[in-house]
Amino acid sequence: MSILSVTGVSRAFGGVQALQACSLEVDEGSIAGLIGPNGSGKTTLFNVVTGYVRADQGAVRFRDEDITGLRPNQVFARGIGRTFQLTRIFERLSVLENMLVATQRQEGWLRGLTRSKSSAEEVATALELLDFVGIAELAELQAGALSYGQRKLLELAYVLVADPQVILLDEPAGGVNLTLINRIAEKIRALNAQGKTFLIVEHNMEFVMSLCDRVTVMHQGCNLVSGTPEEVRRDPKVLDAYLGGGEEEFEGVAGA
Ligand code: ADP
Ligand code: MG
Repeated sequence: MSILSVTGVSRAFGGVQALQACSLEVDEGSIAGLIGPNGSGKTTLFNVVTGYVRADQGAVRFRDEDITGLRPNQVFARGIGRTFQLTRIFERLSVLENMLVATQRQEGWLRGLTRSKSSAEEVATALELLDFVGIAELAELQAGALSYGQRKLLELAYVLVADPQVILLDEPAGGVNLTLINRIAEKIRALNAQGKTFLIVEHNMEFVMSLCDRVTVMHQGCNLVSGTPEEVRRDPKVLDAYLGGGEEEFEGVAGA
């Protein structure tokens, strides 16, 4: 049973066809991986699903609803949360204040911005989530002072404020040290055990292959192959796609 489905989505930027009739199904309760060489359209697909970029063609469905063309806040409010390849936190706000922005965002920007204070309950929830990802002790720190891995954890906590059903993570392990990579993987597993569905873009093949139930490989804007991590590893089409994209990534996929 798909909770999220993308059907025949295309999107061009000038002469660049970032997505070309791309389709993807994400099963409810699964951890799905999305891999592919740089420039193959992974982030653009996330942007289309979450309303940051409009599709030229095709449709996105969430459960029984056609969500094609909704705005980011509308998608967020429906229960699809996401993180960004380059984290988007407010550097001058404290870690806790960043979390409270997320709380207010759920209500829509205007109401959130015009409301003066967060309730004690909202603060408690924010602290609980920071505790869950393991950075509660940094709550009062300016977010700009966080390490890259800590920012990724803050973004994960931020997304959890809305209690989303589906969580899209764009390169959660990129540039993060091994200890925090393991912590991120552990949190993803724990949330998945609570019923949350994940779609994860990641270049770290060990991370993807050990975490994901199914993996889809993107190539030149299309979904090339979908299968279990083992099936994807063995598929010669995948190796070909990566050979075009560079040796380094190829080794990651082939290294079974
Ligand atoms: P990936 O995340 O797989 O590395 P992207 O989805 O970021 O790939 O990019 C796919 C292609 O679309 C690339 O050629 C990229 O340069 C292009 N692209 C993505 N977003 C934009 C944009 N906003 N404007 C112009 N070109 C874009
Ligand atoms: Mg990307």
